[in-house]
Amino acid sequence: MSEAQGLSVWDAPLTQLKGVGPKLAEKLTRLNLFTLQDILFHLPHRYQDRTRIASIANLTPGSEITTEGVIQSSRIVFGRRRSLICQINDHSGLLTLRFFHFSRTQKDTLKPGAKLRCFGEVRRGATSLEMIHPEYTFVSRENPHYEAEQSYTPIFPSTQGISQSLLRNLVQQALKLLEHHPLSNWLPMKLLPPLISRDLVTSLKWIHFPPADMLFEQLDPGKNPNRRRLAFEELIAHRLAMLERQKTYRREAAFACPKNNTALKQLTQSLSFSLTSAQQRVIHEINNDLAGTQPMQRLLQGDVGSGKTLVAATAILQCIKAGYQAALMVPTEILAEQHTQSFTQWFEPMGIKVATISGQLRMRERNQRTQDLQEGQIDLVIGTHALFQADVHFKKLALIVIDEQHRFGVDQRLALRQKGGPLGQTPHQLIMTATPIPRTLAMTLYADLDCSVIDELPPGRQAIKTVVMPESRRDALITRIREALTAGTQVYWVCTLIDESEALQCQTAEKTAEVLQSALPGSAVGLLHGRMKPDEKETIMTRYKSGDIQLLVATTVIEVGVNVPNASLMVIENAERLGLSQLHQLRGRVGRGNKSSSCVLLYQGPLTQTAKERLAIMRETNDGFKIAEKDLEIRGSGELMGVKQTGVMQFRIADLRIDAHLLDAVQATATHLQENSPDAIQPLIRRWLKQTEVYVHV
Ligand code: ADP
Ligand code: MG
Repeated sequence: MSEAQGLSVWDAPLTQLKGVGPKLAEKLTRLNLFTLQDILFHLPHRYQDRTRIASIANLTPGSEITTEGVIQSSRIVFGRRRSLICQINDHSGLLTLRFFHFSRTQKDTLKPGAKLRCFGEVRRGATSLEMIHPEYTFVSRENPHYEAEQSYTPIFPSTQGISQSLLRNLVQQALKLLEHHPLSNWLPMKLLPPLISRDLVTSLKWIHFPPADMLFEQLDPGKNPNRRRLAFEELIAHRLAMLERQKTYRREAAFACPKNNTALKQLTQSLSFSLTSAQQRVIHEINNDLAGTQPMQRLLQGDVGSGKTLVAATAILQCIKAGYQAALMVPTEILAEQHTQSFTQWFEPMGIKVATISGQLRMRERNQRTQDLQEGQIDLVIGTHALFQADVHFKKLALIVIDEQHRFGVDQRLALRQKGGPLGQTPHQLIMTATPIPRTLAMTLYADLDCSVIDELPPGRQAIKTVVMPESRRDALITRIREALTAGTQVYWVCTLIDESEALQCQTAEKTAEVLQSALPGSAVGLLHGRMKPDEKETIMTRYKSGDIQLLVATTVIEVGVNVPNASLMVIENAERLGLSQLHQLRGRVGRGNKSSSCVLLYQGPLTQTAKERLAIMRETNDGFKIAEKDLEIRGSGELMGVKQTGVMQFRIADLRIDAHLLDAVQATATHLQENSPDAIQPLIRRWLKQTEVYVHV
């Protein structure tokens, strides 16, 4: 292997490794593995323990481990599924092995008296612990020894057609190369805070193959200094990438849209309320950005109901009055429809042309609209992801507003960004989110964006009263709802099912609507779910808004943005299965007017500890930022404010729940590198970010 022209071995293609031909190398690119360094930094996401044989009495559910015992009984049972059940015994206890697929030979050899060694995940069964489809071998006089592994077994992120043993082998080869080819270390010890001071190579070796002479429990990511060393470097790489992107943006040109106080006044005077001071402040910040020739990159955070739509309207107005076009992108058709109504109402009197482009338009209509857009006949276009399809062109797009940004993927936002002006102008971007992001996180995730916060709700809003109620009190609840409906309250009833198909969710909602309608014969019950046609959805929403429907049974399609100020009671089913941010979003559909509102969280017991904590927080506070901070605290909630859904940032090893305390040091170190070791920047970014991420902007 040569090290020509300053390129290190680590930049060489994977075909340099034994057993990797062009075909396999091509396959490996699916895992974003291109160079030798990539394989070195392809880090395991968990481990297996094949270092010892545990006695059955010491098995704990959830662990993956090797154990052995003598088969005591073996039989086929015909339950819901035909299965082969073996029970093994090692004098310390009994373990059930369960096979759903088995051959005749298997059945014949797995007979009482045979001694078995098996590896698998331990689960709690009806009568004893179980393993389902364990790997197993027979222990015989000829084969008594257990060849224990010397380290814990890494399990790497993989994809179809690439086996763990292949990845393990490649990593081993790469680690071996380290003996002769040093790896550039861009973070010398003196730059590392004491908590992190570990040698890079030591950490890498350890994280790939943790030595067996420690307890498996010590692999716990929170406590592991080797993991922390790598996570620190990864976070720095991401931070640097963002700072670099920010620099690139600063070099781009945008249409300057001067402030227009007359138009702004005209808009605000047409409203039935006056702007809150928080709205005025952020409007001012945005106005200044838009007047400049550098593309704005601004994140607008404001809790649900804080009035972000209107802020967006002022920004859009400024750009249109300056002679340009604007686009508003929303995650759902319902929201597109709702916004189109509001904006038409605000803008039509001012002679501004508003149109929608959604996935459901007929071909002819769609063609007409895209043509109008390209010719500049449409000033503001509102739409779902249909907006960034290839056939949508603008004449002079100056501003993109993205509502509910956590619902969009990175690529989608990038695609819109490239639809600027004919001279390559970059549109200004206003990214709105109701999903509150704690400050430390915002600094990491959105460091390349300027940030505005609406930290005030419009006056007259009353806190939403939240009640947690077991499913068993459903009948009492329905009685209460009957009274509320009679008193003129409008009600949402949200059906949720997690991890089930959308079809099933819709079915459940349909059934619930039927049941509720017959229990509430005097009231109009409506149904809204994702499988309905757009015009059906629209009709339902319009009827609900006008009060024609009093109780709306809906799936989580209403989660984002839906605004019916008169609705003041919400029931959320299966609340124990939802995450905090989703509960907060859903609950935010009520409490939008000046009536006092309530939210009933229906749950099915028994509750896990985490579920209990979540529901308690929902009962205690309406403050989205507090809820987000709590969310961060509850470990294992795993749904950090949309970080996961968006894939904004997928880390290999860093975990913001565990590593949040490193972020200050990450920022300081990144800045230090920028100032003192600019040569380190690109190599660090290349080492840690996927190729696609390097160029893509949030
Ligand atoms: P979100 O920030 O969740 O997107 P919206 O923009 O949908 O909130 O606003 C929620 C409701 O509050 C809307 O009915 C809107 O007309 C109303 N609203 C917005 N600003 C004000 C204000 N300053 N005073 C009173 N009501 C307001
Ligand atoms: Mg909104």
